[in-house]
Amino acid sequence: MDLHKLEAQTKLCTACQLHQTRTQVVPGKGSAQAEIMLIGEGPGKNEDLQGEPFIGAAGKFLEQLMDSIQLKREEVYIANVVKCRPPNNRDPRPEEVKACWPWLEKQIFLIRPKLIIPLGRHSMLRFLPQAQISRDHGRALRKPFAPTSPDLTKEKPFKIVFFPCYHPAAALYNGSLREVLLKDFQKIPKVLEIIEKES
Ligand code: URA
Repeated sequence: MDLHKLEAQTKLCTACQLHQTRTQVVPGKGSAQAEIMLIGEGPGKNEDLQGEPFIGAAGKFLEQLMDSIQLKREEVYIANVVKCRPPNNRDPRPEEVKACWPWLEKQIFLIRPKLIIPLGRHSMLRFLPQAQISRDHGRALRKPFAPTSPDLTKEKPFKIVFFPCYHPAAALYNGSLREVLLKDFQKIPKVLEIIEKES
């Protein structure tokens, strides 16, 4: 299975009720060789219309954050915890997150990133259930990532560094988080350098 085949399969998903209200699935976008995956919560209105993650206002700010450390969209992979837009941008429900998890898990096993940057609380809790965004944003934590889907039983756990950050949309509502996010992103090159040295 390659990443593009997986994205094509994702587009046919009807595993939860979000398929009834979506315009289209937003599987994720970027490089299959990415060392970094950025994972948001779920598509918003623009993403639902265009089929690509983070292309609205939050996406513009995410691009600024990435620009600030010379990171290009083409060299990372950007995805979401749920691949279909929750109506009126409500929080995804636990059963929707659960139904969508095998897609994200398969993306992670195909890409095998060294660093995952969960964007916002919902994404962070998926990977780091004990974490608190106000305490743990901008901190790197290395953890084995183990498969849970039946399709991935042959896969062995591998280590990933997680570096949770606030969601870029939060900075649009709360200006003080802008600086916090910019500061946290400044740490990413050093985190990558350490990962390289230790691997
Ligand atoms: N917010 C997200 O979490 N994901 C997107 O793709 C867009 C906005």
